[in-house]
Amino acid sequence: MTMTAYVTDFVGRIAQPCATRIEQFIADTSFDRPTLVLDTDIVARNFAALRAGLGHADIHYAVKANPEPRIIGTLVRLGCHFDAASRGEIELCLRQGADPSAISFGNTVKRASDIAFAHRAGITLFAADAEEELEKIATNAPGAQVYIRLIVGATEADWPLSRKFGCAPDKALELLALARDLSLDPVGFSFHVGSQTRHASMWAGTLDRVADVWRDARAAGFDLTLLNIGGGFPAFYGEEVQHPTLYAASVMDQIARRFGDVPRIMAEPGRGMVADAGMIAAEVLLVSRKSHDDMHRWVYLDIGKFSGLAETMDEAIRYQLVTDRDGDETGPCILAGPSCDSVDVLYEKRPVALPVTLRAGDRVLIRNCGAYTSSYSSVGFNGFPPLDVVVI
Ligand SMILES: *Cc1c(COP(=O)(O)O)cnc(C)c1O
Repeated sequence: MTMTAYVTDFVGRIAQPCATRIEQFIADTSFDRPTLVLDTDIVARNFAALRAGLGHADIHYAVKANPEPRIIGTLVRLGCHFDAASRGEIELCLRQGADPSAISFGNTVKRASDIAFAHRAGITLFAADAEEELEKIATNAPGAQVYIRLIVGATEADWPLSRKFGCAPDKALELLALARDLSLDPVGFSFHVGSQTRHASMWAGTLDRVADVWRDARAAGFDLTLLNIGGGFPAFYGEEVQHPTLYAASVMDQIARRFGDVPRIMAEPGRGMVADAGMIAAEVLLVSRKSHDDMHRWVYLDIGKFSGLAETMDEAIRYQLVTDRDGDETGPCILAGPSCDSVDVLYEKRPVALPVTLRAGDRVLIRNCGAYTSSYSSVGFNGFPPLDVVVI
């Protein structure tokens, strides 16, 4: 860890030093395989920080970011609500004590039998972006509240979620009408600004577009009460981000200016809630050069794209690495995972600077990777087990 990184870190996220508890645990422990170490106190701190900025908005934690039961349990005790995407995630939240009224079924692509299960369990709020989905909800959860997910075009997010989900504004009003005709209760709209949207100012264009649709719907006679602003709250990966409270407050301020008084606002942070609550302890398996005049070293870790670091796809998320040899001279490295698949290269377009003294057997810490790691790891590609998780 270089000095600069500490300084940026401190500015980027004032509470960062809390992760030292995780670092201490890792330093005192030996691991047989890559392990994600989580600290639920940091999740609790993030929840408080977001809530302080989000004011009266309900926070629905996006379970897919990290479904570790003790994270869910911690959030249940703090009064957090949940955004679930499947029967499995709903059951997980219920097992941890969440009230069904605090769970929304936010996936726009649901299995009919899962909708029926959710309805029986007492869940009353569902997302949709298409006619068939509304029909499924009307059949399997008659009378339920639904919100229509809007597609948002241009995004400045590092990990966009824009194309696959949502419908265009012209269709959104038709879907509200269809929901009403199907005796559902169309309560509002949702959108997702894109995951890892680093600055609150990047929400402006999306909020402008959503506010236009909101106004059109109200003018058309729909008494909308719910605005679901999705996730997008960023984590610190080396580039400066605002403190979560300031970020959230700025988003709420931008909403108030465009929407006026909205009775019910929901936010669905995933990454911003858990990313900095986890650190992976990994190991260097091999350091090599492909030829004598190779400019780069290849550094192969015991963790890769299939075992937890899926978000390195297209080098979108750039994790920070810490080694015991930090402080030694560094040189450019291509970083790769252990599997026998040539796409399992983590960083090549922008190589990473690692100590020239690094060698097989060295430990590597991957910082702020509590989100979208354990939940994205394969069950056993190439015989590598899924990411191990320890909660301290
Ligand atoms: C994944 C997801 C989220 C969480 O997004 P983050 O960027 O991790 O905060 C929120 N809402 C929905 C509908 C999602 O699919």
